[in-house]
Amino acid sequence: MTQMIIDGQKTDAASKQTIDVVAPSDGKVFTTIPRGDAADIDRAVKAARKALTSNWGKVPAFERGRLLFKLAQAVLDNHEELAQLESKDTGKPISTSRGDITVLARYFEFYGGGADKIHGETIPFLNDYSVEVVREPLGVTAHIIPWNYPAQMFGRSVAPALAMGNAVVVKPAEDACLSIVRIAELALEVGFPAGALNVVTGLGEEAGAALSKHPGINFVSFTGSNEVGVLVQQSAALNAVKCVLELGGKSAHVVFDDVDFKKAIPAIVRGIVHNAGQTCTAGSRLLLQKGVHDEFLKALAEEFSKTRAGTPEMDLTCGPVVNKTQWERINRYIQKGKDEGLVVVAQGAVADGVPEGGYFVTPTIFGAKNHDSDLLMEEIFGPVLVVVPFETEAQAIELANATEYGLMGAVWSENGGRQQRVARSMQAGQIYINSFGAGGGVELPFGGVKKSGHGREKGFVALEEMSTTKTIVHFHGE
Ligand code: NAD
Repeated sequence: MTQMIIDGQKTDAASKQTIDVVAPSDGKVFTTIPRGDAADIDRAVKAARKALTSNWGKVPAFERGRLLFKLAQAVLDNHEELAQLESKDTGKPISTSRGDITVLARYFEFYGGGADKIHGETIPFLNDYSVEVVREPLGVTAHIIPWNYPAQMFGRSVAPALAMGNAVVVKPAEDACLSIVRIAELALEVGFPAGALNVVTGLGEEAGAALSKHPGINFVSFTGSNEVGVLVQQSAALNAVKCVLELGGKSAHVVFDDVDFKKAIPAIVRGIVHNAGQTCTAGSRLLLQKGVHDEFLKALAEEFSKTRAGTPEMDLTCGPVVNKTQWERINRYIQKGKDEGLVVVAQGAVADGVPEGGYFVTPTIFGAKNHDSDLLMEEIFGPVLVVVPFETEAQAIELANATEYGLMGAVWSENGGRQQRVARSMQAGQIYINSFGAGGGVELPFGGVKKSGHGREKGFVALEEMSTTKTIVHFHGE
């Protein structure tokens, strides 16, 4: 049975209620987490506020950086335990979880190094005035995390906040939060003071909603669905606090006739099947130029048909999806594709020998004639890729930008001019040329446009997002 972390203590929910945690690979309950609610959120926010004026608020920047480094090291020292926990909780193949935990450590290393490297400035002004712009923490920052990459999303959102001296309250997803609670325990072990990092487990509509509207917070970072993101932004607005939203996506690969098959095919397969398609940046649309359409699709289908969904221990292409609701939702989309007359171009398979009751989905590629299917517009959040042909570069750009989302995209071409034109015309926060994703890319600013959200995480820009400036104007004349 897991406990949450408030004010440096392991604790149950004040109500003593718990939530069952189900393993996605067999559908069975294997532990419980506290069902924290508004009372626990209130305790955590108060502890964080107290930390700002007592212990944590007094730690100098370079010491904060050192604590982040220590936590990175503790993550590496407990790497296998954390990876096993992540796989049990989410169903990910064990090597995927191992990669995720390595990225988590990178976040704490990167922002540990950043803690004392973000400076204020002085501004030339009127005679007899000195002006300093100093950088300060926002205060208490709230972080609402999804279940698809719990450890990575925790690192991405929380590490820069701590680096800048904020006191943090985290509400992880009820479907997968065990690794996050364990990391918070490690943070206490390496010396983070009580109240600097609080984790309240619980349901979104209870603990999550209570956190996003708590008057004691100064900032909300939300990663999750568009629908909930809008609710969180409304709550943040009621307290006039800043909000970063990292929401869904419908990212497109734009593949031109001069594509290099060897580079593109493995990246496109991985881009939709990795993590069973439960990735906000999943490359779920493939726009394919007519001249190469048939040949490319044949080669892609051959590679895609080798994909296998299995248990964490089988360590195949992907695991099950996170829960029954997601499993039913994805299968509804697959059925809808068939009903709409989309062609099944290729399918992977669910591996032999997976347990009964696991939430395994068959990876699927559909072919469409044009870009008007719901499967091309809506985020499926499963291993489902839809392919559409195009003729001209202008048409490709129009199709790439035809969804409400704008998170990531890729251009596949050997023509330098075309690479730049298309990359700059695609509406998304991150575009790759002849690759897709970059193993976490901790250093690379990331975030959405349109309904994929606003604000930026990763890279140095996150330190600016997680802090504010104060302008001090000093008149020293007669
Ligand atoms: P979700 O919105 O259902 O849940 C996300 C978090 O919000 C969870 O912790 C949940 O408990 C909490 N929550 C739910 N209702 C809430 C409420 N009323 N008030 C406050 N908090 C509430 O999303 P999900 O299903 O966990 O995650 C999948 C979605 O997340 C997808 O749309 C995916 O694209 C998106 N996502 C985006 C990014 C990104 O960086 N842009 C990264 C990962 C996931």
